Amino acid sequence: MARVLITGGAGFLGSHLCDFFLEQGHDVICMDNLITGNVENISHIRSSKFSFIKYDVTNYIYIEGPLDYILHFASPASPIDYQLLPIQTLKVGSLGTHKALGLAKDKKATFLLASTSEVYGDPLVHPQPEDYWGNVNPIGPRGVYDEAKRFAEAITMAYHRYHAINTRIVRIFNTYGPRMRLGDGRVVPTMMAQALMNEPITVFGDGKQTRSFCYVDDLVKGIYRLLMSDCTEPVNIGNPAEMTIMDFAFLLKEITKSKSQITFKPLPVDDPKIRQPDISKARDVLNWEPKVALKEGIKTTMEWFKDRLMKEGKI
Ligand code: UDP
Repeated sequence: MARVLITGGAGFLGSHLCDFFLEQGHDVICMDNLITGNVENISHIRSSKFSFIKYDVTNYIYIEGPLDYILHFASPASPIDYQLLPIQTLKVGSLGTHKALGLAKDKKATFLLASTSEVYGDPLVHPQPEDYWGNVNPIGPRGVYDEAKRFAEAITMAYHRYHAINTRIVRIFNTYGPRMRLGDGRVVPTMMAQALMNEPITVFGDGKQTRSFCYVDDLVKGIYRLLMSDCTEPVNIGNPAEMTIMDFAFLLKEITKSKSQITFKPLPVDDPKIRQPDISKARDVLNWEPKVALKEGIKTTMEWFKDRLMKEGKI
């Protein structure tokens, strides 16, 4: 059995990864400074194979004993979070990735970087294959996240080439599911809460911009396949089922049986107009593709949010 370090392990994706690796019988060390993560995401875990360390990975990371895998997921990840925490976002993508790679080198562990579709920026190629270099505004409000992740990819490849570290890079497209943080500003938790509370659903811009939503369980399986592969080049993991944000708002209204009206707000600066992963590589190299249909995944997610909003006395 392997020993795995998951940075950002108390976040949305990190906590699902903790669950998955524990289910596989591995030892999991979860590290998080909790600036956007939450211990509630891991409070259900009772396993003696699990430990949590509250720590900021932009500092030197010390872990006693062997490590087989390091999954570097620490970072603010929603547009609101990384605009509120621009320096922390840049630091965790650069210094944090450097520290986590240094640890991987020391422990001879396989390193997996959580990268993002944001490396493609507002894309001029559609759908986005891994060999597209992107269209990113380095000095815009999203630049702090996009460039941090682009740097993180560059340093990961440098450690791979120069230090012969075993590395993987996953480019994660929009993912949703239980444990997304209410108030993180992303479209799924925001619109889900609005729909369940029968409050106006805020569509940014004209709602014609597109996204492609992947259910978290599919994503976790894809990441595991990538980790177990020998693919050192970046791989897109996401669901290619693309839709406009307006259609997404209507779908949420329908599934939640909401009485909410739709209301329009200005489109945030540099908001990508289209986004859809080209997952040919994941299909060919990893033999992976998403299985959970959007309606099915949204229903499961809705139950979780309902519960959450009830606990908070909001519905
Ligand atoms: N969006 C929206 N209403 C909201 C939140 C987001 O219309 O209340 C839009 C946002 O402008 C973007 C899309 O939904 O076009 C997805 O936004 P999100 O913040 O989830 O992540 P992104 O894909 O932009 O990183």
